[in-house]
Amino acid sequence: MSHELIVQKYGGSSVANLERIQAVAKRIVATKTAKNNIVVVVSALGDTTDELEAMALKLNEDPPDREMDMLMSTGEQISCALMAIAIKALGYDAISFTGAQVGIKTDRSHTKARIRTIEGKRTKKALAEGKIVIIAGYQGVTHNNDITTLGRGGSDLTAVALAKALNADVCEIYTDVAGIYTTDPRIVKEAKKLKTITFDEMLEMASLGAQVMQARSIEVAKRFNIPIHVRSSFSKEEGTMIVKDDDKLEDISVRGITCNKSEAKITICQVPDQPGVAAKIFTEISKIGVSVDTIVQNVSHTRHTDISFTVPKVDLTKAFATAKKIAQKIKAGEVLEDRNIARISIIGSGMRSHTGIAAKMFQTLAENKVNIEMITTSEISISCIINQDLSDKAVKALHKEFNLESV
Ligand code: ADP
Ligand code: ASP
Ligand code: MG
Repeated sequence: MSHELIVQKYGGSSVANLERIQAVAKRIVATKTAKNNIVVVVSALGDTTDELEAMALKLNEDPPDREMDMLMSTGEQISCALMAIAIKALGYDAISFTGAQVGIKTDRSHTKARIRTIEGKRTKKALAEGKIVIIAGYQGVTHNNDITTLGRGGSDLTAVALAKALNADVCEIYTDVAGIYTTDPRIVKEAKKLKTITFDEMLEMASLGAQVMQARSIEVAKRFNIPIHVRSSFSKEEGTMIVKDDDKLEDISVRGITCNKSEAKITICQVPDQPGVAAKIFTEISKIGVSVDTIVQNVSHTRHTDISFTVPKVDLTKAFATAKKIAQKIKAGEVLEDRNIARISIIGSGMRSHTGIAAKMFQTLAENKVNIEMITTSEISISCIINQDLSDKAVKALHKEFNLESV
C-alpha cells in the first residue's frame, strides 16, 4: 500500500518556546493517520540563530565560515530533538535526525552551501516503521563530514529539497503569518493574503526582500515544479499556494510590493570618464567578495562623472575602504556612503503584458514627495532606491495606488 507523504516545515517563531513546540507537536499528530507518512523540518527556536551569530561576532569580527557552520547548525539540532521528545510524550513514535544523519550532502561553500544529493534510505526506513521523522533544517554535510549551512532562511530549502528527494505529495511551510501577502502584513495592515502566487513572482519577491520564503528554496520548487502551501502554524486557515501558473495571471499587473532595508549606497564622485574605469572599480570590489547590486553612472558633461552602487550593509565597511583606495588610484574625487536607503519594488508577472506601470510607480512616489535615487527593472519587477525614512509611507502609497487592498 502506498502512503501519502507530507513534508511540513515549521519556522523559528512557530517553535519559539516549549508551549509552541507542544502546540506544533499536537498539530503534527493530529495530521498523522495510518495512511500517511509525515516528515517535519524544523528551524531553530525563535531568534536562536541570530543569538549564536552575535556571540561569535563578540569573540571575532571575522569568524571563520567553517566554525560558524558548526555553531549556527546547533540551533536546529536542539529544536528537532525537542520536537521528537514532545511528540513521543503524546504517545506517537518519532525520531529526530540532523542533516548529516539523513545524508543531505552539500558542496563546501560554508554558510551558503548548495545541496548536491539527498540520501533517502534512512528517512524511508524510519517512515516504513511508522515513525514521524523530524529533520533539522538549514544544514547539510560535505563529503569530508564537515557540517555546512544553507544560507539564512535555509530550512525552507531543506523542506523543498526533501519534498523533491522523497517524492512527497504535499509540501507545507508553516510560519507566523497566514500566507503570502501583497506586502509585509507587519508593516501595512491593509495587506491582503493571496490565494495563489507563481514561482516566478515569489522568487522575485523573495530576492527583493520578502523574508517569508528563502529565494533559493523557490528556485528548487520552480525547477522541479513542487507546489508549496505557505500557511500559519497558529491557525487552521488555508494559506497561499505557490504554483507554476495561475489563471489570473493576465489581469493583474502588480501582485506584490517589497521593501528591503539591508543595502547601503556608495558614491564615487568625479570619476574620470574614460573606458576601463568602471571595470577597474568593480573588479576590485568583486575581489574582496562583495556583491554589488544596482549601479548608476551619471551622464558626464565635464569628462567626470559620479558612480553610485549598492552593496549589502554588512559589507559596507570593507567595500567603502576599497572604494576609497580605488578612487585615489584612478584620480577620482571623494567617496560617500549612505546607510539610510531602502529598495522599494513592485512585482507581478502581468507586467510583461501591461504598459505604464513604471510611470504610475514614479508618479505615485512623486506625489508623496519621495525622491528616487536609483532605478532598476527586470521583466516582472521595478525597483527604486529611496530614503529609508520614507519607505513605509512609499510602500503604503504604492499598495493603495495599485489597488492591492482589494485583491
Ligand atoms: P519563519 O520563522 O517561519 O521562517 P520568517 O520570519 O522567515 O518566518 O518569515 C515570516 C515573516 O516574513 C513574516 O512575519 C512577515 O513579517 C515577513 N514578510 C515579509 N513580506 C511578506 C509577505 N509579502 N507576505 C508574508 N510575510 C511577509
Ligand atoms: N535558523 C535559520 C535562520 O534563522 C534557518 C531558518 O530559520 O530557516 O536563518
Ligand atoms: Mg524563514
